[in-house]
Amino acid sequence: MATMRSAVLVGPRDIRLEDVERPVVDDDTVVVKLESLGICGSNLHWWAGAPVEQGLMRFPLPGGGGHEYAGVVDEVGRDVTRVKPGDRVVIDFFESTSCGDCTQCAAGLFGQCERRRFLGLGGFTEYIKTCEKGLYPLPDNVETRLAAVVEPMACAVSGVRRASLRGGETVIVLGAGVLGLCASGAARALGAGKVIISAKYDAQAALAKRFGADVVVRSGEPDLIERMKAETGPHGADLVVETVGGHAPTLSQAIEILRPGCTAVVLGLWDEPVPVDSWGAVLKDARLLFSLTYGLMDKRHDFELCLDWMASGQVPAEELVTHVRPLAEIAEAFELAADKSRGVIKVILNP
Ligand SMILES: [Zn+2]
Ligand SMILES: [Zn+2]
Repeated sequence: MATMRSAVLVGPRDIRLEDVERPVVDDDTVVVKLESLGICGSNLHWWAGAPVEQGLMRFPLPGGGGHEYAGVVDEVGRDVTRVKPGDRVVIDFFESTSCGDCTQCAAGLFGQCERRRFLGLGGFTEYIKTCEKGLYPLPDNVETRLAAVVEPMACAVSGVRRASLRGGETVIVLGAGVLGLCASGAARALGAGKVIISAKYDAQAALAKRFGADVVVRSGEPDLIERMKAETGPHGADLVVETVGGHAPTLSQAIEILRPGCTAVVLGLWDEPVPVDSWGAVLKDARLLFSLTYGLMDKRHDFELCLDWMASGQVPAEELVTHVRPLAEIAEAFELAADKSRGVIKVILNP
């Protein structure tokens, strides 16, 4: 039996590498040798000991976690035709394991597939078994070792696409982590007229202009709403993208600074149910649009759009990767990712 190194979360803040059986292909599956694994904000909730019944953290312990992957196709089954060994790919694991023909799949919303094919838990590991669909080839100038960043980028891009910008809008992005900076870049790429972003940390603020923001406001400022309204005009923003979640007050802020009749996209993951100012929202005819993953919209997958924008430099998502660590240092890498005061935006592990 061939083995590989794979991380297991044994208990809160206790993640270890173990030797586990390496996956082998079936006739219709693919094994990808992973070279880039992203530590996601949702992984940090799970690692820190969020209750297992809570939202995305419904992974059993001990367990693997992880869902941001890129690598090189290692082995393909004999019925596989779309990819071959040696192809560099980023993986939409939801699409790859989807049934492909339920109502949700037909709508391009693979993350909500009603009959997902279970191929074993993924996670922070050296090899993964999946299907040939949902594998997106990397452009020549996108490095494999950084390419896991496409996954969180696609979450942000999908959220902004769902808001259907027409061009010229004033957009506010709350939060300037990976999701916020990518949402800013996407809004700009999709024709926003003016982008205002709130940033908590210096490292985030420093990158905002690279991601299309015209104005950066610091989220610690007491007059944050007034500062943003000074930029949007008194009626507020045509689109607000909330990307913070946790314990932040950003959902009510989003409603407060939204122009009547407009959309607030909510990408943040919350540590507990959040009260909504439903009067504030209804009196504005506000549209609240929650967005978790990505998929196929208007005949283009979010991953394809992300890869195009990365290759052209329009949204330079590789610059979000502030730290790269070997998989062997996963325990320290999680501690690092959890401590935003150390200049971290994105931590990627290289198996
Ligand atoms: Zn994620
Ligand atoms: Zn399906």
